[in-house]
Amino acid sequence: MQVRHVPSTSTPAPAEAVTGSAWLTSLAEPEGPSRTRVDRVHFAPGARTRWHRHPLGQVLIVTEGTGYVQRRGGPAQLIRPGDTVRVAAGEWHWHGATDTTPLTHLAIEELPADGTPTELGDAVGEGEPAAVPAVTRTLVLDQHLPAPRVIDHVEVRRITIAPGEHPGLHVHNGPVFGSIETGSAVYQVEGEPESVLTPGDVFYEPESTRIARFDALGEGVTFLAYFPAGPGETPALTLLDS
Ligand code: MN
Repeated sequence: MQVRHVPSTSTPAPAEAVTGSAWLTSLAEPEGPSRTRVDRVHFAPGARTRWHRHPLGQVLIVTEGTGYVQRRGGPAQLIRPGDTVRVAAGEWHWHGATDTTPLTHLAIEELPADGTPTELGDAVGEGEPAAVPAVTRTLVLDQHLPAPRVIDHVEVRRITIAPGEHPGLHVHNGPVFGSIETGSAVYQVEGEPESVLTPGDVFYEPESTRIARFDALGEGVTFLAYFPAGPGETPALTLLDS
């Protein structure tokens, strides 16, 4: 076993493979019988690979930023932290940042035993229709409520919790939906596993359910919260003794 701490040597991605600025950090190389390599790839805004294909395919795991992936013949799809993309063996595709945001992903690739290299094609956009659709719509949550509920108004609040603040065990008198704008928080429904929410993540706090944690992490957290409520109802949070 070999432990590498915070590999920091990044090198510019090969100019023949990428348009714009991108950097590679090699995290693991093939060794012994293993033919797996893992790289961290960081794309500056506007940078992307050329069209290319890998003999045995590739797995991409987005760790930071926002970007696109597209297979030949398909639409460009928005990808964001936590998303995993499996590219099939021999499938023409590209990946990279949006024009306005950087993208970092892990790239995991099994190299073929016969040494067949990745095949490079045209730069994205050369002789292609516009690679990136003007509008993308991604379903991030389709939450069913435990029972039908009368709603006649929805309050939307922007809530900021200071770094390290832990509001503690609480319940809401109605369902709450939210999406993280900046920062991060640990979220936990009592008795269920905790999760870490980061920008773009959505969450649902069921009505009258004990929420054990909504703890702002080091940089604090800001989120939009949506409170559907019935006639005459005022959304309210009740703190409980844990
Ligand atoms: Mn690829």
